[in-house]
This record gives sequence, C-alpha cells and structure tokens, in this order.
Amino acid sequence: MPVGNAHHATRRRRFVSASAGSYSSQGKAELSSHAYQLLGDDEPAAVEVERPDSTSPYLFVADHYGNRIPRKLGKLGLRDADLQRHIAWDVGVSGMAEEFARRFDATLVKQRYSRLVIDCNRPLDSATSIPEVSEATEIPGNCGLRFEEVEARQREIFAPYHDTIGTIIDRRQAAGQPTILLALHTFTPVYHGEKRPWHIGLLYNRDARLANVFLKLLAEDETLCLGDNQPYTVDDYSDYTIPVHGEGRQIPHLLFELRHDMVEIESDQYRWAHRLAGSLERALEHSPELAR
Ligand SMILES: [Zn+2]
Repeated sequence: MPVGNAHHATRRRRFVSASAGSYSSQGKAELSSHAYQLLGDDEPAAVEVERPDSTSPYLFVADHYGNRIPRKLGKLGLRDADLQRHIAWDVGVSGMAEEFARRFDATLVKQRYSRLVIDCNRPLDSATSIPEVSEATEIPGNCGLRFEEVEARQREIFAPYHDTIGTIIDRRQAAGQPTILLALHTFTPVYHGEKRPWHIGLLYNRDARLANVFLKLLAEDETLCLGDNQPYTVDDYSDYTIPVHGEGRQIPHLLFELRHDMVEIESDQYRWAHRLAGSLERALEHSPELAR
C-alpha cells in the first residue's frame, strides 16, 4: 500500500524541498538564495553515488554511512569517542555496502554526514530527526537550534540525499529498468542495556515480498540468528527511506540490518557481504518476478 498523501503532507510540514530551493550540481545550497549556509564550499556534499548508471536490479542505499560533522558545528559538543559510536553512524556499514554494490556492479547511494547532524531515515517532523539525546547521550550542539539552522540541515543534507535516490529510481522506472531497493544498516549489539541475539535483521512494513524470499534463503544457514522485523520494525514515524522510496513507489524493498559487533573490523565487513551476497543472487533466481 502506498504511503497516503494527505497523511504525508501534514507530517512533512517542516520539509524544505530541494526543488523549492537553489542547488548546485553537488546538491549544496547556493549562498545567494539562503542566508545561512551549513557546509563550507570545500566540504563534501552529503550524497555520493557509486555506479549511477548500473543496470543491476539491486539499488543499495546507506542512510547512516558517514560520521562527518560539518565544520561549522564543531563536534556537536561531543567527545571524539562518541563520534565513533553507533549513535553517530552505522558502525561497519561502509565496507559491507561497498562490497555488496561491487559484487552486483550496482548503484550505491551513500550519505556522508552523521545521523546526529540530521537523521536521513527519520521524517523531518520526528523528534529524533535532529536528536537532542541519542540513547543516553546528550547532544549539546543540537539543543536550542534556530529555525534557519534546522532548515539548513534539511536543505543541505536530507533533501539532496533523498532527491538523489528519488531521481535514480524515477529514471530507472522511466527506462523500464526494475529496481529492488535495499537500505543497508547496522545495529548495536546492546541497546539500553538489553542484549540483542540476532545476527541479521530483515525489516519491512506493508510489503513483505523481498523479506519473505530472503528469510527463506538465509534460514538455510542454521548458524544464523535471523530477526524477522527485529530489532525494529519499519513504520512511517521512525523511518523515511523505505516508506517513501520503497512503499511509495511500490517496488520490492527491505531494510537490511547487520549486528555491528560482527563487522567492526574492515575485513569482516567484506566477509559478511560475500557470505550474504549469495542469498541476494539466489533470490533473483528463485523469484525472478522481483526484478520485473
Ligand atoms: Zn542505520
């Protein structure tokens, strides 16, 4: 079921669309049209795309790929060690995402800035879009923000990232090219003191097509502890990428989570990607209708 438009319009009241502003080709806002600019001209754009013209049905996206903080924000009042923790990004997702995309010669869309600057998998009216507290850590640099500071994070990071994903999927659909959307994440092994047993989480909401195929294939490996909608589920209030780009366009999709203690070492990120890529390959053989 597609995301309802009326519902969506109210939830996106703070959203600043890229098309309403003025953007350079890198997705950076132009200073002339906005008084407050977050990213310096020498800082990287929020979004980076690998293999934009791939014809693989798989499209990989990584909302929490990076942990950069725009220079203007200092360290958000945090210690360096906090910026390496899961509160700042998805630990270990980078190598896994790159290896998956390389294996399938597929497009990968990466978001380089920390989820603490703005969480690209949250609706903009969510309290955790720009969190003042993450798990038990206060984020001083996110407290008492002025409207233009919030707007700049939306305009320079969130909007270009999601506009890029939307443009890629629209272009593929216009060309008759199938798209299977995989949003790649990692999760912390302990959250609020609770240990999580799952190695892998397969998360979805209204459309379980892809999840059911992967759950069946991955279950053949009895050493894996699979989370069917664990440790979270996908919903319209705490997710953005899957509801908007997957459900909204009615393409097969999945939010794929790996427990991050298994991929803290770079070589393990590649190893797990290889191990799991076999199931992605077989999914296309078992269910070719997914790629139609
Ligand atoms: Zn994540």
